[in-house]
Amino acid sequence: MKNLPRPIADQLEQLAPNVTPGEANFLDHVVVLGYGCVGRPLSMYLKKQGVRNFTVVDKKLYKPESVLSQCVADELGQSKVAVAAKQLRDVDSVTTFHADVSEVPYGIVQPNSILIATFDNRFADAIANVMAIVVKSILITVNIEPLQHAIAVRSYDYRTSVTSCVACRFRPGDDQGQQHPRSCESFAAERPTNGPRPLAEAAGEVGAWVASRVVAGNDELFGKELLIKLDRQRLTVSELPARQPCVADHQAGWPNLTYLQSRPDVVSLRELLPEQSLADIQIEFCHEVSTRCRCSSCGRESDCVNWVTHATQVVGSCSECSGQLLPIPFWSFSTVSASCLESVLDRPLSSWGVPPFGILRVIAQHHDRSFVLGPSHDTTTKGISR
Ligand SMILES: [Zn+2]
Ligand SMILES: [Zn+2]
Repeated sequence: MKNLPRPIADQLEQLAPNVTPGEANFLDHVVVLGYGCVGRPLSMYLKKQGVRNFTVVDKKLYKPESVLSQCVADELGQSKVAVAAKQLRDVDSVTTFHADVSEVPYGIVQPNSILIATFDNRFADAIANVMAIVVKSILITVNIEPLQHAIAVRSYDYRTSVTSCVACRFRPGDDQGQQHPRSCESFAAERPTNGPRPLAEAAGEVGAWVASRVVAGNDELFGKELLIKLDRQRLTVSELPARQPCVADHQAGWPNLTYLQSRPDVVSLRELLPEQSLADIQIEFCHEVSTRCRCSSCGRESDCVNWVTHATQVVGSCSECSGQLLPIPFWSFSTVSASCLESVLDRPLSSWGVPPFGILRVIAQHHDRSFVLGPSHDTTTKGISR
């Protein structure tokens, strides 16, 4: 590894020797959360290893100070994901989301995916954690601490069960890990990721290396933290804590998950429901759905069904004064009776805001099925099974 001192590189090789020749081919689809100073070099290393399908999520634009740590002058003002799409254009597929991780539907993680989070705040890490647990994926978190010249890479395997998760590190009774990063209760102002470039490059390289080794079947990296102190040339390997009860639900999951090929603009909710009375059917969503909204100008309330990712999302315009309609938090649900959705049952899911990769679960008597909406990647499993 070119960014690491030799002793650390050797130690890493001993820890997880190359078990399968040509391992890189096994890493088919990677979801990179955060295309900052770590996520960007990490993606380049993954591409070099032969990863052919990428999904990249980042809500930020390149700012002048980014030039120091992560981009070139030409890229100022561009969104990070637009630059990602350019840098990764020669792979098979790149799907980008210029959005906060909390707004992205969980279905972006496919059966053959691994999830890599490169955030610098734990609220975002907590969301990535839930996403990975729900879809039973591998999660790797890569963080840097510039003041200590330190890199931390943690690997979690949620494919069959969850024993230790990202949230297990939070103190007991500390539920802040579950707060929405945009919530007003959030005390942590967002820090800019301005890690020094060599540290971030090294972190990206180690993260990509760990990803390729765990996918190649190197199970000993799971449940472990690799802590690298670059200035002291030291690698420490420790067990990640397992905590019960944990603020995250280790049993969370979507039963009988089916990956649909159809996009939400061609499927209606009705087609996914069993032949039962609507009142006996509950629908659960991976984001909230609001059933009532209020005009921000005249205050008029009305019924309107919408998939909602954040409270300030405009869901329409007022018929009286053409002001903006906002969802009413009291009328927003993650689980709702199908009878409350009657007005949209026969309309395409996208017409009331359900995005591609959204997940919904249909619960009725003797019936419990979950659906991930298309488009889906080629789901041929290469090396990852669950
Ligand atoms: Zn946990
Ligand atoms: Zn109005």
